[in-house]
Amino acid sequence: MRTVRELHRDILRREAKKGRDISELQEAYQMDCLLHPERREKRDGPLDLSRKKEMDVSADVEAVLAVLAEQKRDVYALIAPAFMGQFGVPVTPGRVRAAFKEIGFQGMVEVAVFADILTLKEALEFDRHVLNETDFQLTSCCCPVWISMIRDIYGELMPHVPGAVSPMIAAGRAVKKLHPDAVTVFIGPCLAKKKEAKEPDIAGAVDHVLTFQETKDLFEVTDIHPEKLGEDEKEHSSMAGRIYARTGGVSEAVRKTVEQLHPDREIVLHAQTADGVKACRQMIEDIKNGDRKANFYEGMGCEGGCVGGPKSLLPKEIGRELVNWYGTEAVYETPLENPYVIELIEKLGFYTIEDFLEKSDILTRNFSVKN
Ligand code: SF4
Repeated sequence: MRTVRELHRDILRREAKKGRDISELQEAYQMDCLLHPERREKRDGPLDLSRKKEMDVSADVEAVLAVLAEQKRDVYALIAPAFMGQFGVPVTPGRVRAAFKEIGFQGMVEVAVFADILTLKEALEFDRHVLNETDFQLTSCCCPVWISMIRDIYGELMPHVPGAVSPMIAAGRAVKKLHPDAVTVFIGPCLAKKKEAKEPDIAGAVDHVLTFQETKDLFEVTDIHPEKLGEDEKEHSSMAGRIYARTGGVSEAVRKTVEQLHPDREIVLHAQTADGVKACRQMIEDIKNGDRKANFYEGMGCEGGCVGGPKSLLPKEIGRELVNWYGTEAVYETPLENPYVIELIEKLGFYTIEDFLEKSDILTRNFSVKN
């Protein structure tokens, strides 16, 4: 049986044959905060919350502050791919990470890395199931509004939805598998994620969900100024995972990965995307009525995708631009090229492609459980 690592090596060989310099793609260093926390410098003494300002914060922020102050368990920030520029343009990803560590988080994990892993899963599922002109797939990734809509109103289409969890849940489960006592805090622009984290079949992966505004409040109340901190740069995500934050990102990520898997594939991925509840509904109605122009369907509950989420702090157009820019900055285009993705998949216990697709409980969910 072919392993995920063999597939990764084959892809690198193929890229090298095309004339691409792959030396950068092979330089793997560890995701220390997640895979090797013992290497991380420990803070001196307990978290000093004496600097905590008097200000009104939400109950969710209070809960995160309480768990940080306890200092009993490692707390991980899981940051959504839409985070670019949300705390101000000078607040680079490295400064956001430094800010979380300054408050007492063990580390910051980019959920984009798990979007990468799910991109690989969706691409392999597409490769396995979309074999003729009548086959099609609806993405199960990321948006709880899209998934609830299909599950609650258009249940007959569920066989076309791979039973995958969202990148947020995959990230939470992975952290807890590697560090069972850890506390996980998801940070993003989405209110629906607060509800998703409590859905019965996936509850327990993510302990707290904060919006970007609540996270800003967390920085403010603890007197942390991310824009003044040094860069704590550890980039592990590919372009594929980074662009999930905007409409069309999931489709582009899966299409590129399918193309890299099988450049000569006869049935290529044709995507149709919809953003906003109305457009998503219309797209699903069209599929139901046999009016299909694509074989891969991506729905996002918010206009523009997550950069247009209800708690995004930037206009969606600027958010999209920043997300696209961050995507082009990635060393890796797809998860197949990304050595961290391969290492993480192995650390989670999956070596063969079959195991990754069929036994990866951590990445799958049971949509039949009623919420
Ligand atoms: S598109 Fe909107 S509802 Fe869907 S995950 Fe993103 S922010 Fe949440």
